[in-house]
Amino acid sequence: MDCLFCKIINGEIPSQLIYEDEQVYAFHDIDPKAPIHFLVIPKKHIATLNDMQTSDEPLIGHCVFTAQRLAKELGCQDGFRVVMNCNELAGQSVFHIHMHILGQRQLQWPPG
Ligand code: 5GP
Ligand code: ZN
Repeated sequence: MDCLFCKIINGEIPSQLIYEDEQVYAFHDIDPKAPIHFLVIPKKHIATLNDMQTSDEPLIGHCVFTAQRLAKELGCQDGFRVVMNCNELAGQSVFHIHMHILGQRQLQWPPG
């Protein structure tokens, strides 16, 4: 499958790995928008949040808990933001769902 993040998961494209297990893969964003900016992705290819099924609920829950755990490990315990962009209208550019975790700076609201 011609998917950038599937290629990162299987090692075809290098990444700065933070954590992986059977279900999830976490790595630093190549173009960080904060001092800490990493991505948590399910190993299962799901193109957008609109393609998530009921059966994916435990998997996405595991992604969220992994994000929380790694954010703390990376020094973001005082505050961090989790973002999932769904479709181009929201700014999604890689069509394999991913959670952005941003931290270690004051973040503004609303996002652009
Ligand atoms: P989106 O715009 O789809 O919400 O987020 C995609 C993210 O993937 C962007 O923050 C972008 O910097 C990141 N990204 C794109 N290509 C690569 C890559 O090859 N390696 C890594 N580590 N991140 C990437
Ligand atoms: Zn994929």
